[in-house]
Amino acid sequence: MKKIGLYPGSFDPLTKGHMDIIKRALKIFDEIVIAVVKNSSKKLLFSLDERKAIIDEVYKTEKNIICISLDSKLSVELANEINALAIIRGLRAMSDFEYEFQIASINRSQNKKIESVFFAAQDKLTFVSSSMVKEIAQYKGKISKFVDPIVEKILEEKIKSSGT
Ligand code: ADP
Repeated sequence: MKKIGLYPGSFDPLTKGHMDIIKRALKIFDEIVIAVVKNSSKKLLFSLDERKAIIDEVYKTEKNIICISLDSKLSVELANEINALAIIRGLRAMSDFEYEFQIASINRSQNKKIESVFFAAQDKLTFVSSSMVKEIAQYKGKISKFVDPIVEKILEEKIKSSGT
């Protein structure tokens, strides 16, 4: 049976940190389903559709990486529906741990069959986050080390057009 991993997140936008987690997860899972969540608790730059479109474009030639948007159900419910073995999350530093541990416990309270697995990105990407990339781009700094060239172009255009 195909081993499916569900990777939920805001991806506002996708960074090389996220991409590194996906690459590592593919060593264990046959297929990664990226679920772009609405996340109304965060101040987001891109709409749900835009965040999904970016991921679709970056991974358009990858058969084992699928992206969907998730706005009306819990990730754990989606994981169950698509027969995912586990929910994938990434850890950058100890500061992520408490939050991630809490989410994993909540998910288990909803469905104890779905495991949570955590991957650590390579050292040079551990400090990369979507918010840090947006901040640098806003001040016209260099972001090519932190995002795919497709994301770099879209982010720069977005910042120019939103006048931020
Ligand atoms: P969320 O808003 O759900 O935290 P994010 O898009 O910020 O969504 O991140 C999704 C997941 O990817 C989280 O588990 C986060 O810790 C992880 N992640 C993001 N960037 C990195 C990175 N540079 N290294 C390791 N994990 C990361």
